[in-house]
This record gives sequence, C-alpha cells and structure tokens, in this order.
Amino acid sequence: MNESLIPQNLQFVKQEIQTLATQEGLTPESVRLIAVSKNQPIESIQIAWEAGQTLFGENKVQELLTKIPLLPQAEWHLIGHLQTNKVKSIVGQVALIHSVDSERLLLEIEKQARLKGIVQPILLQLFISGEETKSGLSPEEALSLLEASNQFPHVQIKGLMGVAALTEDREIIRAQFQTLSDCFQSWKNNRPNFTELSMGMSSDFPEAIQYGSTLVRIGTAIFGSRNYA
Ligand SMILES: *Cc1c(COP(=O)(O)O)cnc(C)c1O
Repeated sequence: MNESLIPQNLQFVKQEIQTLATQEGLTPESVRLIAVSKNQPIESIQIAWEAGQTLFGENKVQELLTKIPLLPQAEWHLIGHLQTNKVKSIVGQVALIHSVDSERLLLEIEKQARLKGIVQPILLQLFISGEETKSGLSPEEALSLLEASNQFPHVQIKGLMGVAALTEDREIIRAQFQTLSDCFQSWKNNRPNFTELSMGMSSDFPEAIQYGSTLVRIGTAIFGSRNYA
C-alpha cells in the first residue's frame, strides 16, 4: 500500500470508532484503538505515530522485540499466541498481553514477572470462534483462573480478549461477541481492575463496539493488506 494513505486511514477509523461509541452512549475515549502493525515496516509505524497513534499491537514476540527499541515511547501490546518458552523475553516489555490461553502460560508469566519483580497486566483469551485453528480458554476455565487470581500476585488480569470467526455472516459474529461480552459483564462485578474487553478487527469492529469492546485491534484498515512475501 501507499504509505501516504496511513494518516487518512487512521483518521477514518478513528472517526468510525467515535461515531459508533457515541451511538452506544459511550465517550469516544472508552474505546481505544490498537494499530496492529504486524508485518509492517517501522517506517509505516513511524508515520502512524506521527499522525498521533500511540498504541500498537503485534502478534509475534520476536517481531515485537525488534520494533520496541525503534519506538520505545509507544504503548506496545502483544495480541498473538504466546509460547511458554518466549514468556521470559516478553514479560515486562509490553503494557498488555492479550493472548493468555492456558493455565500453564499464566503460571509461566507469574513466575517470570516474580523473578523480575514486576506485575504484568494480561487478558484472558476466550475461545469464541468455533474454529480449530484459533486458541482460547472456555468460559469455565477462564472463570476458574480469575477466581484463583490471588495465587498469581505478579499478574494482573485486566479483562478478556477474543477473536470472532472469519465469516461474512454478521449474525454469527454478533453471537460470538455476545458470548464474550456476557462473560465480561458478569465477571467484572466487584473486580475494579477488570475493565478491558479486547474484541474487533478491521472486518468486525463496528459489531464489537456495539457489544462493549474497549480495545479494538485494527491492522488492514490502517496499513492496508499485509505483504507476507
Ligand atoms: C492480525 C490481527 C488483528 C488485526 O487484523 P486486521 O484484520 O488486519 O484488522 C487483530 N487481532 C489479532 C489477534 C491479529 O492477529
């Protein structure tokens, strides 16, 4: 894509988010935009930064660790699957890990955060898509981790994340966001730090905002299609 389109794409996406949030009776600040910069060169990320974007998401640990030092002032999130053996290198480097999808992974984050003397904010990823290629916890598993959270003092569970199915069927997408939203709404009672619901990508962020998303993860609509060559 022509990099010069990035500022106007960003502006358009932000406007959309603002309109949708207002329609839901929310303040524009209650839905934050994560610019998903995976597979994008640092030049494109710089352009987005200069256009006012401060929050970026990446789905691979190695790529993230390469990019953070090039733009350390940005707020970086890990949104993709995290392998246990990479936890050590990422803990303490990112503002939020969205993709905690097993107890084993949570335990490893706890261990590495304890060794570094920090508290790592995370989200629990729920499996909502019904697609075998996607990962995530069942609602029962997620709730039991949340209820055991005092056993993980170096991890702060800030909320939930999910990825809807890749389908044109809006009803399926809505039903999946509804499931995630229902869990979020019922579990956030009496949990003052449980405030984030990460759902919605380029193709489905309008629905996600209607179902209460607080963090939308948008790549293609900002940067254009990714070049996997
Ligand atoms: C790539 C990715 C996104 C962004 O997808 P787009 O369709 O490009 O907006 C969002 N969330 C996750 C977990 C991703 O891996």
